[in-house]
Amino acid sequence: MSELRQDPVTGITTVLEPERAGRPRDHVHPVEVLNEAVDCPFCAGHEQATPPARLELSLPGESGWTVRVFENLYPALTARDDQEWPGEIDAPWPYRGTTGFGVHEVVVESPRHDDSLGAYTSAHAALLVEAWAMRIREWREDGRFASALIFRNVGAAAGASMSHPHSQLIALARVPEALLKELGNFSQDATESGRCVLCGAMSADDAGGRIVFDDGITVVHSPWAAPSPYFMRVAPRRCSATLADASVEERASLGAALVAAARAIRGALGDAAYNLVVHDAPYSAQHAGLPFHWHVEVFPRMGDQAGFEWGSGVYTNVVDPDVASSVLRAGLALE
Ligand code: AMP
Ligand code: ZN
Repeated sequence: MSELRQDPVTGITTVLEPERAGRPRDHVHPVEVLNEAVDCPFCAGHEQATPPARLELSLPGESGWTVRVFENLYPALTARDDQEWPGEIDAPWPYRGTTGFGVHEVVVESPRHDDSLGAYTSAHAALLVEAWAMRIREWREDGRFASALIFRNVGAAAGASMSHPHSQLIALARVPEALLKELGNFSQDATESGRCVLCGAMSADDAGGRIVFDDGITVVHSPWAAPSPYFMRVAPRRCSATLADASVEERASLGAALVAAARAIRGALGDAAYNLVVHDAPYSAQHAGLPFHWHVEVFPRMGDQAGFEWGSGVYTNVVDPDVASSVLRAGLALE
């Protein structure tokens, strides 16, 4: 019999129906070559093909940059330095809209085209997380934005257009709906039980054997109410609102955890398309001291959302998270 499970962090309801699962690989979208190194604007030596760098970090011993951040050449959102706030646009009643005010940056994660997150050394992964934290802080200090989202698309099925390893940051002058909902879930539980829902979820997944990686600082788990097959949540054990304020040790540990998650996917499913999304407390919530526990979602793209999902906001998952975590652990051991 299927089960309806609700995640306490996202509030999303998922129908778990493992009996419909085929072999895992039947549902995987493989990663294909999207662009070659010869004409890749993100490769070392091609820096003139991108907007100027806003941040460059290097590993000791590397001759040039290791991580390089610049504005997206085709930004979804922009903000001039002299612009304080998004403008209202004319919208036919009852519609509403504003100008596309925000920030859209690309974080090139490696000078090498054929590098991949699963292959980063621990120092390299730590440097990437440091770059993310610096950019989140940068836009927090700017003062015009309400939230910043870091994400990573790998493979066309995950929305990527470039093969070269990269992530992106989008800062908005508002808090996106999914994050607002999470904020509400954290606040409600903190008020009702005085506890953090994510700390609770990690304990439950610990007790249930759904841990993929744990170094005592950062945990990668397959949540009991995972909305999709092999969905992983990565979170620090210390309950804190923002990655921007993570310690050096926590940033290095997050790097190692993300490398482990990427290796687990590859070992379990092959080179599968996946997304990685950092859920950080909105700047406004940080200012107000609202409860939030920052975390990262890593999920291979398996099949597509169909009519039921679009129509209901309810997800369906054909792989039991208990099984997913053991398959991912085995995959990680293989890599
Ligand atoms: P993705 O499509 O997720 O692989 O992300 C790659 C991003 O890089 C896209 O949003 C593009 O708009 C952006 N992009 C492509 N070429 C350049 C370039 N030469 N300089 C800066 N950004 C670029
Ligand atoms: Zn490249």
